[in-house]
Amino acid sequence: MWDRLVGQEAVVRALRAAAEQDALGHAYLFAGPQGVGRMPAAFALAASANCPERGCGACPVCRKVLRRAHPDVHLVAPEGAQILVGQVRAVREEAFRSPIEGRTKVFVVEDAERMNAAAANALLKVLEEPPAGVLFVLITEAPEDLPPTVASRCRRLDFAPLGSAQVREVLAGHHGIDPDLAEWAGRVAGNLARALRLARDPDAPALREAHLELPGRLARAGPAEAIRAAGEVKAESVAAVAKLRATQEAGAKEHAEVFGDGRGTAAARKRLEDRHRREAKRREMDVYEEVLSDLASFYRDLLLAASGAPDALVNREVGDRIVRAAPRVERRWLLHALDRIEWARRAISRNASPALVLEALFMELGAPRPVPVGA
Ligand SMILES: [Zn+2]
Repeated sequence: MWDRLVGQEAVVRALRAAAEQDALGHAYLFAGPQGVGRMPAAFALAASANCPERGCGACPVCRKVLRRAHPDVHLVAPEGAQILVGQVRAVREEAFRSPIEGRTKVFVVEDAERMNAAAANALLKVLEEPPAGVLFVLITEAPEDLPPTVASRCRRLDFAPLGSAQVREVLAGHHGIDPDLAEWAGRVAGNLARALRLARDPDAPALREAHLELPGRLARAGPAEAIRAAGEVKAESVAAVAKLRATQEAGAKEHAEVFGDGRGTAAARKRLEDRHRREAKRREMDVYEEVLSDLASFYRDLLLAASGAPDALVNREVGDRIVRAAPRVERRWLLHALDRIEWARRAISRNASPALVLEALFMELGAPRPVPVGA
């Protein structure tokens, strides 16, 4: 299970050593961008903290934890935009109960920077006087947004961003994806989670191509086109969620067949439903994130081409178009466009309406100095 964490050798060494020597801390902070293995590392750690072999990855305990079906391993994630104090209070209560079948109760807190002040305070109280046999793993891409009092109670481990070569290695090596497809997905995706979707979802390449056509469309047309384009992105996110829901329903059915409808299954079913709801919300947001990241990579390529470095382009598939357009675009405008994309990304992550943010962004990208790409 540790071998799957490509590119995080230092983190893996530290965690394995601590687990094998029975020297695990009671709280960890996993800092790093999305899609680099923070979540798999958290569950591998949870398995190690419960496995009789200190983390073999293969025994029933490890397998149950890694399947996310172990009753002593809990995932806490934002309800909507925030992690609320009620969620942390429930964690606190649970932390003081003894484990159901394992050795260590583990609480994995996803997007920990989204705890509101009350929630962070409630967590701080447990971290200050942690009950025995409890392990917290806080996961965040913005450790500086956590209260220092909380962060200082955790052992911090920094996850390195994966390079495109490492993403390619994971896709081809661990997921059996065709090398050419893995090369392309690794190059354009920006992170592992998206690279996997690009490589596995047959609709994904065409959708990405449509994202790369947005700059040209926006440059040629007025605000009506900007609004239409924003509407299309929204439709894409609705479709992505519907697709996910279909796989989730299959999973829920399988769950019902395995566990039946008897007593005691209600809690497990509720956990599964909660997880599905969170995944759907995340998938919806991921589509916006992906569109913004594709746009940014296109404008960055234009900058590279304008600086006379066309060999370094990410979007080689549309390289000709980019190289042709580059001399006609002002570099200052491109920097401004990249800045506005970053603004949009932040606004959406802070719970602004994605549809409205995209409309505003797309209008700006079309005016006042349109990028004449493909015109
Ligand atoms: Zn094991």
